[in-house]
Amino acid sequence: MLSGVTRAFSDDIAIDLGTANTLVHVVGRGIIIDEPSVVAVQVRGGQRVVLAVGLKAKAMLGRTPEPIELVRPMRDGVIADFIATEEMLRQFIGRAKTMLGFRRPRILICVPSGATPVERRAVYETALSAGARRVYLIEEPVAASLGAGLPIDGPSAFMVVDIGGGTSDIAVLSQGKVVQARSLRVAGNAMDEAIMRYVRRKHGLVIGESNAERIKIEAGTAMAQPNGRQVEIHIKGRDLRQGRLKSAVLGPQHMAEALTGCITEIAEFIQRALEDLPPEIAEEVTNRGIVLTGGGALLDRLDAVLTQRVGARFVVPDSPMHCVIKGTAAVLEQLGERQHLLIGP
Ligand code: ADP
Ligand code: MG
Repeated sequence: MLSGVTRAFSDDIAIDLGTANTLVHVVGRGIIIDEPSVVAVQVRGGQRVVLAVGLKAKAMLGRTPEPIELVRPMRDGVIADFIATEEMLRQFIGRAKTMLGFRRPRILICVPSGATPVERRAVYETALSAGARRVYLIEEPVAASLGAGLPIDGPSAFMVVDIGGGTSDIAVLSQGKVVQARSLRVAGNAMDEAIMRYVRRKHGLVIGESNAERIKIEAGTAMAQPNGRQVEIHIKGRDLRQGRLKSAVLGPQHMAEALTGCITEIAEFIQRALEDLPPEIAEEVTNRGIVLTGGGALLDRLDAVLTQRVGARFVVPDSPMHCVIKGTAAVLEQLGERQHLLIGP
């Protein structure tokens, strides 16, 4: 009996289709895929051939005799390349299927609140053609809030700011509904670019994007201060003029300086969102503390700097990069009771 029930649920999967990372959760198994949203393609006889997706695709760069291209199928939270997205989803879904030996799964997938009906439809159709039996959609901030442990059906309003790869998305939720949503194209990628510009300007060094991202993750900080992160990082790059290999050392004060422009933009964006709320909602939101999710929330001292700049408390939940997938999985596991959270394609 029990195995029958488990089986009935076990062909369901939740997907967080992000600009930077895609995560897949299988009911009863947890997160089985957490990989960069990249697809390695090669042009053969005028045709694009997909060689690999995710981690495998990333690892192929520079390691194959023939030239390959790394495609990021998602941009700013929406599908930028349909064929590449479909292939990536097909391979991920396929992996989930062989792992559990089940038939075509039902898929719950989240879309940004600001996605247009056409963009939503595109996610729906792409997931279907990638091999889903049925596709359900929910709004990403709803998933992020649930995953952060917020009482989404409760009476008071709160604000969630998700800082991903392409965008920082603000949402205000009240009684289970998104009452305000806006998106800024300044997030993780913009921080990487800021680091690239900084080392170019200050050290005459040219570094690549993935190097800049690694520097940010290993040594990045929003605030250089005595009790903050004290990591120094040695970087190597190409000298701007001579083209020779050259190195430099970056400390916390350099990282904070490099990232200050991006952080100011994010702070001002949040400030404006608060100002546009009815005063009583703004008060509820600030009293509760603004919740930061997404990979950008992991930037050292970001919550402290935003608290200073915005004048409201910021909180970072456990594993902010997993909030969206955790929340999506929570809805999937109670699809019956949580049907009201689903949105149409
Ligand atoms: P998306 O939802 O757009 O796929 P994610 O929530 O997965 O994005 O976050 C990815 C972003 O988070 C990337 O820009 C990555 O560099 C950044 N990130 C990951 N870890 C850290 C960290 N420790 N500090 C700062 N940024 C980080
Ligand atoms: Mg995300």
